[in-house]
Amino acid sequence: MSAVIAPTAPEKMKKSHLLMVIVGIALLLLFPVGIDNPYYIHLLETIMIYAIVLFGLDIVVGYTGQVSLGHAGLFGLGAYTAGVLVFKLAAPFWITVPAAILLTAGFGALLALPALRVSGPYLAMVTLAFGTIIQILINEMSFLTEGPMGIKLEKPALFGHKLDEREFYWVVVVLMVLALVVVHRILRSHLGRAFEALRGSPVASDCMGVSVYRYKVYAFVISAGFAGLAGSLYAYSEQYISPNSYNFELTVLFLLAVIMGGRKSRIGSMLGAAIIVLLPKLLDDVVMFRYVSVGLAVLVIVTAVVAIQRQRATPSQMAIPVVGSIALAGLAFWLETMTDWRLSIFGVIMLFVVYYLQDGIVGFVRTAFNIRKPKLQVADITDSNVRSDAVSVAADAGGSDEVLKATGVLMQFGGLKALNNVDLSIRRGTIHGLIGPNGSGKSTMMNVLTGIYTPTAGALTFAGRSLVGRTSSDIALSGIARTFQNVQLFGEMTALQNVQVGLHHTFDSNLLDVSLHTPRYRRERDAAAQRALNLLRFVGLQELATEEARNLPYGKQRLLEIARALALDPQLLLLDEPAAGLTAPDIKELVAIIRKIREHGVTVILIEHHMDMVMSMCDTVSVLDFGQKIAEGEPAKVQADEKVIEAYLGGTAT
Ligand code: ADP
Ligand code: MG
Repeated sequence: MSAVIAPTAPEKMKKSHLLMVIVGIALLLLFPVGIDNPYYIHLLETIMIYAIVLFGLDIVVGYTGQVSLGHAGLFGLGAYTAGVLVFKLAAPFWITVPAAILLTAGFGALLALPALRVSGPYLAMVTLAFGTIIQILINEMSFLTEGPMGIKLEKPALFGHKLDEREFYWVVVVLMVLALVVVHRILRSHLGRAFEALRGSPVASDCMGVSVYRYKVYAFVISAGFAGLAGSLYAYSEQYISPNSYNFELTVLFLLAVIMGGRKSRIGSMLGAAIIVLLPKLLDDVVMFRYVSVGLAVLVIVTAVVAIQRQRATPSQMAIPVVGSIALAGLAFWLETMTDWRLSIFGVIMLFVVYYLQDGIVGFVRTAFNIRKPKLQVADITDSNVRSDAVSVAADAGGSDEVLKATGVLMQFGGLKALNNVDLSIRRGTIHGLIGPNGSGKSTMMNVLTGIYTPTAGALTFAGRSLVGRTSSDIALSGIARTFQNVQLFGEMTALQNVQVGLHHTFDSNLLDVSLHTPRYRRERDAAAQRALNLLRFVGLQELATEEARNLPYGKQRLLEIARALALDPQLLLLDEPAAGLTAPDIKELVAIIRKIREHGVTVILIEHHMDMVMSMCDTVSVLDFGQKIAEGEPAKVQADEKVIEAYLGGTAT
């Protein structure tokens, strides 16, 4: 299980990957040479065009975890941008396609800005309404779009040469491969990590300086751009566009395709596209359907037998899919024609796949064959260039002795005063303890300091600037990092990636840098990867760099949160009960790490219930009780305070 940071193994995997990709592209390019039936060429072309939409949709659905029911509308917008530009202005291909991408991306922003203030079912409704409005507008704006009549157009010309079916197919192959490369690079970059982080834990993203709102909008904009590209190609591919093609059914199909193929996977997107294009065709006539259903039944039975043998599933779990697929095959032989049944059967198959393969086909294959995701990045870091300067502190703006000052902070939840007129003064370079019984307002104080709550009244100054009313990500970037009482890691991301999210602020690269892998981006990427590994080493987690955060033991998760927080180069580090749930040896390790952090000049606020830890480490201790500060001073003095003993320490102080 232990992750070995060896430079050789992943590179081998990279090579085999590359070979697969090259063979795949070669096959795609050669397809129309071998098979010159235009029907099949067109079918494959449609799959590739849908795949481009799904690459983009996967950013929103798979990575940021949002739902969009507006993508058919965006796809239609791309198609109509190209169609109208050709019809009205006879614009050439190299103008219509970029125009479609830009316009659709713009509409993506328009959709995202208001829609992302809401989430869950509301977001689904807003995106659905958006898609519907686009369809209605296309229908109504006949002066531009020819309304329900639709627009006819021909295959485009390139360099003065009008493309035929086959040549246009090659253009689509090239553009799909380009889209694949670009989307892959985006998702592997700091941008992709930001998208994934906000799904894993929005609160933690914001507190790592990655604005959840901004990156949700980015995700929609980029995603819409891909839908626009696909739409424009679709217009040329079909040579006819009409408003009804971009309806609700298509939007649902797109969503299903992403989930069925397997989210967070480009292969999954391509598979999903193939399924939604081919499955309806396969259900066209009853003979074909018989083949499909028997094939499916055999596949399900074999899988079930293997799964039960390997004890991955119980017979009762497998009963329904086995019986269901046999029943479907039976139905296929009982039916005489498909016409009335097509849609229902299509729906049942979809439901089946979504219900039983929640990680999609790619996820299923990965589990079945125990394929793990390639471990990149770490491979590029050799031991020789790992240096010890993992922890650094951003230059302090104020320069005064006092890092943080809170005066008269009031935080009211309804009638409850979780913080009541609290003053705090934190001196630079100290460890400041914050103790008090459960519910006394300690975590609330952290949440107020990091912008998660806005205080009802009172003032907060950090490094000479007020904190009140600023966003969490802004506060984080100005130098306050934190951990959480309930660990908030990005569960599906590796330990290394978690820390890299904290290093997001070290990137200046934009979308273009990321897509082209410019020297600037490569420099920033390598520096961040190295820094992240150094930080993991700092907390003793380098061996677990490629392990998913959710699989780490609890104690390690807490350490990982500290490493991630340090990536912000904070002046002030807030630790909310870092020792809770840790074993004695883990606590010892933690104490050593916190001491090292302080030695690097980082100021620490420590909330803890382990009194020996607080008493031995802290320079100053403040005690809260029912939201009020009841004592403050050196640990020994506080420990002897009557009020503190009564409220909190009780027996332990005697
Ligand atoms: P501590 O961390 O010291 O154990 P907290 O700061 O978590 O305590 O909580 C202080 C009080 O504020 C508790 O009574 C808690 O129920 C209340 N509280 C905290 N957050 C909220 C919230 N978002 N809404 C309502 N009450 C809250
Ligand atoms: Mg708490």
